[in-house]
Amino acid sequence: MKYVLLDRGDRLSRELSEQFQAEAKARGLIYDEAAPETVVSIGGDGTMLQAFHRYKDRLDSVAFIGIHTGHLGFYADWQKDELVDLLDLMTSSEPRNIHYPLLHVEIDTEAGKETHLVLNEFTLKSADGTLVSAIHINDEPFEMFRGDGIVISTPTGSTGYNKSLGGAVIHPSLEALQIAEIASINNRVYRTLGSSVILPKHHHCDIVPPDPGEELMIGVDHILMVKSGVRSITCRVAENKVTFARYRPFTFWNRVREAFIGSV
Ligand code: NAP
Repeated sequence: MKYVLLDRGDRLSRELSEQFQAEAKARGLIYDEAAPETVVSIGGDGTMLQAFHRYKDRLDSVAFIGIHTGHLGFYADWQKDELVDLLDLMTSSEPRNIHYPLLHVEIDTEAGKETHLVLNEFTLKSADGTLVSAIHINDEPFEMFRGDGIVISTPTGSTGYNKSLGGAVIHPSLEALQIAEIASINNRVYRTLGSSVILPKHHHCDIVPPDPGEELMIGVDHILMVKSGVRSITCRVAENKVTFARYRPFTFWNRVREAFIGSV
């Protein structure tokens, strides 16, 4: 098996990374940065976001595995003292590959179109003051938003920023995207639904800022950028999915319970 490893860069993650590589070499695993079959992330869910963006052009041929250096995460479901157990399973058994939906975002700017593949969420805010934007669903005007911003998340991202905004937690077997509001202002001119909206795979939404000259703050997972000249942004469930290699069961609802509720 050819694998690559990314770590968060802190001392513990670096030590675990060295230990993993030594144990992997002893078991005949080959370290290959250019064409890995397995991408191992050591750190947290944030580290997995970085690993995803590093290898998102090879989604058809890679599977991801996450080792958490703190508590268990949503993408990082192995703990720091389980490296040997994981490596034993990697060298002796076939994983169950789980495929999770992603978000496809197309940003139409005066300088041209760009596309992004998103694992957690796409975030839109104004770089200066409140964000004003029309939201269309399936090419029909839906609402005029004014407020701090809009977060459009994937099912696995629904437990991240989306959840802090009161959005629903969505099981990743549902191919859907969720639009959540950040502090919308509601009055006679600007009226929004006020609750998050979940769209199925065959629907899409467009965000249309009334003034393309406005500077916007755009977030693609952990990556932040400032853009002006944005004419519209189209979000839909992506055709590609991301694959996670599961060497033992750890169901989504157990992860949700462990992260947010604890032992019952
Ligand atoms: P960060 O600000 O250093 O960490 C944000 C926290 O979100 C970390 O505890 C991270 O877990 C956790 N997280 C990431 N993906 C998650 C998921 N799918 N479900 C549940 N928790 C998740 O930023 P970062 O490490 O670069 O991560 C970027 C992510 O932070 C964004 O994609 C967004 O989801 C989240 N975020 C949340 C808020 C909010 O809730 N108010 C605001 C901004 C961004 P680990 O500790 O395991 O890495």
